[in-house]
Amino acid sequence: MENIIKDIDILSPEEAQATDYKTTEEVNTGKQKKLYIESYGCQMNFSDSEIVASIMKDNGYDTTSDFEQADVIFLNTCSIRDKAEQTIRKRLSQFNTLKKNRPELTVGVLGCMAERLKEKLLDEEKIVDVVVGPDAYRDLPNLVTGAEFGNKGVNTFLSREETYADIAPVRLNSNGVNAMISIMRGCDNMCSFCVVPFTRGRERSRDPHSIVSEARDLFAQGYREVMLLGQNVDSYKWSPEENNKARLSKKEDEVSEVVNFHHLLEMVAEISPLLRVRFSTSHPKDITDEVLYTIKKHDNICKYIHLPVQSGNSRILELMNRTYDREWYLERVSKIREILGEECGISSDMIAGFCTETEEEHQDTLTLMDIVKYDFSYMFFYSERPGTLAAKKFADDIPLEVKKRRLAEIIDKQSQLSYERNKLDLGKIQEILIEGKSKRSNEQLKGKNSANKVVIIPDGPYQKGDYVMVRITDCSPATLFGEVVS
Ligand code: SAM
Ligand code: SF4
Repeated sequence: MENIIKDIDILSPEEAQATDYKTTEEVNTGKQKKLYIESYGCQMNFSDSEIVASIMKDNGYDTTSDFEQADVIFLNTCSIRDKAEQTIRKRLSQFNTLKKNRPELTVGVLGCMAERLKEKLLDEEKIVDVVVGPDAYRDLPNLVTGAEFGNKGVNTFLSREETYADIAPVRLNSNGVNAMISIMRGCDNMCSFCVVPFTRGRERSRDPHSIVSEARDLFAQGYREVMLLGQNVDSYKWSPEENNKARLSKKEDEVSEVVNFHHLLEMVAEISPLLRVRFSTSHPKDITDEVLYTIKKHDNICKYIHLPVQSGNSRILELMNRTYDREWYLERVSKIREILGEECGISSDMIAGFCTETEEEHQDTLTLMDIVKYDFSYMFFYSERPGTLAAKKFADDIPLEVKKRRLAEIIDKQSQLSYERNKLDLGKIQEILIEGKSKRSNEQLKGKNSANKVVIIPDGPYQKGDYVMVRITDCSPATLFGEVVS
């Protein structure tokens, strides 16, 4: 999960500036113009920026890593927490001087913040020329051309079918080993804290044949790991006649074929035993035993599940509208352990200080963490988002200091658990996929095991994309260290 940014709510502003986004890199294919994109937030956004880069490439743009060289700057934004939006506004103000010196520069805000604020963004941020939501990226070239002629533009149309299935993403920040493949868009769950259903629209699944073909091409280019991405991958459901989840669920008997997530996993896993398959995110209400048995059946489907719990207390889970309770969640975890064993990695997302959460209910989150023994978690404190069910129905009544203290306790617990889990790997021999040099030293290589843990080994005669068997000799809470045994 190294690709995911650290949560900016728990970083100082300086750290956030330094770590919370990815930019495009220099790709020169002789095109006329230069595009610079900063992508904020989740992996879905990074994956969307690859689709945007592809659409713009077909319209005469190469990417650049230097915004001062760019003709067009896009910020692909996140709305999940207030801090994420503030970061974007700060970034826009930093581009002001650049735009003053080069009025011909086009600045676009894309993604969730664009979708949420629509035309308002043009009023509030004068520097912005185009505002484009997650389903309207095909319109970007038109809108950019309009902006070049002085016409600001907004397209935040949310589609019921768009999956960008036919677009071959331009791989950004690629190490040539791991790649993301978007398998679905939108979300039909209405978690009360979450803005995603409003900014990314209804859930729809991408044609599995286009997914398999993208994965096959990646494998042929030397990639060795694909991450299948969606807000709720276990809810993937596709038919040739209908790809919209809500509509398809009503007429499953009338369509010629239905492909579910476990079918899709198998189709991708069968491309080659040398292609590792990962997926994220799994919703506890949707992950089925069939998915778990499919993971077990194929050695190349990684034994790692990101299964966000959000809270360990059933009353809070109900207020969050997660549609499962503590017992249901723990039953799913037992099933994972029963079918995939103790070594399967499990990670989570946690929200501290949701509306009305008591100290005892917060303790339930800590005790659940102790039972599950997560390998890793993304941990946040609750940030009220305008328009969500929680904002409409409940008071955001937990004081900020209390939220922060509870979050600190959750983070502390997770770091003990991560260390405990990592220590269990000591002495074991694991297959590692090498991803390149370690960041810390040129004399070390870094890779990942099946459970998604970073493993550092001494440099040797191995290349990126090689599989090696490694004995784990040491660990920290975040990393495993080992030596190659074959
Ligand atoms: N679809 C995924 C799921 O249901 O687990 C996650 C999507 S969301 C982009 C990632 C995480 O952000 C959520 O799991 C949740 O923990 C966190 N999150 C979402 N809305 C939040 C809010 N209003 N305040 C704090 N954290 C939030
Ligand atoms: Fe948001 Fe819930 Fe959908 Fe995840 S499943 S994107 S948390 S509404």
